[in-house]
Amino acid sequence: MKPSVLILGGGLSGIAAATILAREGYSVQLVERHRYLGGRASGFRDGEDWIDNCQHVVLGCCSAFLDLFEKLKIKRLIAFHSSIPFLANGKTTVLAPSKLPSPFHFLPRFLTAPLFSPQEKWSILSLFARLSFARNNPEVLDKINMMDWLKKMKQPFSVIERFWKIILISSLNETLENMSAKYGVMVLEKAFLQSPDSAAVGLPSVPLISLYEEAEKTLLGDLGVKKIKGTVKQIVLSEDKPAVILDDETKLTADDLISALPFYNLFPVLPLNLQEDRLFSNFKKLETTPILGIHFWFDQKITEERFGAFPGSPVHWFFANSFDQRFYYVQLVISAAYEFLKANNSDIIEMGIQELHKYLPDSKKAKLVKSLLVRETRATFSIKPDTDPLRPSQKTKIPHFFLAGDWTDTGWPATMEGAVQSGYRCAEFILEQKGFQKKILK
Ligand SMILES: Cc1cc2nc3c(=O)[nH]c(=O)nc-3n(C[C@H](O)[C@H](O)[C@H](O)COP(=O)(O)OP(=O)(O)OC[C@H]3O[C@@H](n4cnc5c(N)ncnc54)[C@H](O)[C@@H]3O)c2cc1C
Repeated sequence: MKPSVLILGGGLSGIAAATILAREGYSVQLVERHRYLGGRASGFRDGEDWIDNCQHVVLGCCSAFLDLFEKLKIKRLIAFHSSIPFLANGKTTVLAPSKLPSPFHFLPRFLTAPLFSPQEKWSILSLFARLSFARNNPEVLDKINMMDWLKKMKQPFSVIERFWKIILISSLNETLENMSAKYGVMVLEKAFLQSPDSAAVGLPSVPLISLYEEAEKTLLGDLGVKKIKGTVKQIVLSEDKPAVILDDETKLTADDLISALPFYNLFPVLPLNLQEDRLFSNFKKLETTPILGIHFWFDQKITEERFGAFPGSPVHWFFANSFDQRFYYVQLVISAAYEFLKANNSDIIEMGIQELHKYLPDSKKAKLVKSLLVRETRATFSIKPDTDPLRPSQKTKIPHFFLAGDWTDTGWPATMEGAVQSGYRCAEFILEQKGFQKKILK
C-alpha cells in the first residue's frame, strides 16, 4: 500500500507539497474549491480575456519557486529580465548587473543613473554597505519598522520616496511604517547583494491561468496527483486517521493531512478544541494587506519597456504583456494600497490613466479599449514588526497534521517563494516520519 496524503488548497504551497510527495511515491489527493490551481498567484476569466489576479513577479533569488517550476516543467514559461527600468521625467534609469563580482555588480550602472544626485547615490550605497552588518541582529530589527530604520541610517526623504519605497513596498506588500525592518533588510540583501542574477525579474510569458494549466499536466498526468474540486467544511482530527468533510458532505481521509489554506480560511474549519488552543488561535492575530491591480487594454503599443517602476507615484510598477494578440494589455500595480480602499473604481482607474500619461507619455496617443480594477483586499498577511511569533511551524503538535502557506513560519515575507518553501517543509516533515532525512532545499 502506498502511503497517502490529503492536501487542502491548490495554491503554490499545496502544489509544492503535492509535487514532492507524489515524486516520493505518495498517493496524493489535492482539494481545491476553484476550477484552476494557483490560488492567489493565478487569474480568472472575464469574457474572452484571461486576466491575471495581479501581475506576479519572481526574483532570481527565489530558489524554491524556481526548483518547483523546473519539476513541473513550466520554468521555460518564465522570462527573466536582468535590467530594471525606473522611469521619471522622460529619462530611464536602468539598474543592471555588470561583470564586477558580487556585491559590486550593480555599481557601474548605478553610478551613472540620472534619477539620483551624487549625494543621493552616496546615501544609497552607504546603506547597502551596512546591510550585512545589520542582518546580524534580526531580533532587534524585527522590533522596529523599516521607515524608522531608514531614518536611523540617515536616508534622505527624496531617496526614501523615489527608491526604497518602490523596491520595498512592492516586494513586501506593506508600507515602510508597517514593515518589519528585519524583512526589509533581508529582501534588499538577498535581491541586490547575493549574486548578479538574484535581482533578475521573472515574468510569465503566458497568462497566469495558462501557467497553472500547464503545471496541472505534470502534476495530475506524470505525477498522478488526484485533484478534487470541493470546499473544505470541516477538518476532523479525532479519529484514527485525519479527515476532512467537504461542503457536499463527502468525507476524505489519508495517513497525513496538510492544510495549505490561508489562515483566514483555515481557522473556521479547524476542530473547535484547536480554535481555542493558543498555538492555533495565535495566527488569527495576523493582519492582511491589500493590493490593487489596474488593467488596461489599448489599441496600440505605449512603450518598448516590458515593465518598469514609477518612482514617486502612487502606482509602483507597470507591466506590459504581449500575450493578448488583439490588444496591448498593461497592468499597474499598487501594493499596500490602504489609501485607495475607500475610493471608487472609476476614480482609481482615472488616477491610473493620469499616472500612465505622466510616466509613459506615448500612452496619450493610444485609444483605451477597456479597463478593469482588481481589488485584492486580503492579498497577503502584513509583515509588521514582531509578527514572527504569530507564524506557526509547518509541523503542528497534532500527529499527521501539517500546515503550509505563505503565512506559516518560513523566514520569508508573504511571497510565492515563501509559499513553496512551506510546502516543501511539510513534505520534509512527512518523509521524516518514515525515517527519510530528506532535505529538499539545500
Ligand atoms: C494581488 C497579489 C499580488 C501578488 N504579487 C506577488 C508577487 O509579485 N510576487 C510574489 O512572490 N508573491 C505575490 N503575491 C503573493 C502570492 O500570491 C502568495 O504569497 C502565494 O500565492 C500564496 O500561496 P499559498 O499556497 O500560501 O496560498 P493561496 O494561493 O491563497 O492558496 C490557497 C488555496 O486554498 C484554496 N481554498 C481556500 N479555502 C478553501 C476551502 N475551504 N476549501 C478548498 N480550498 C480552499 C484557495 O482557493 C486557494 O487556491 C501576490 C498576492 C496577491 C493577492
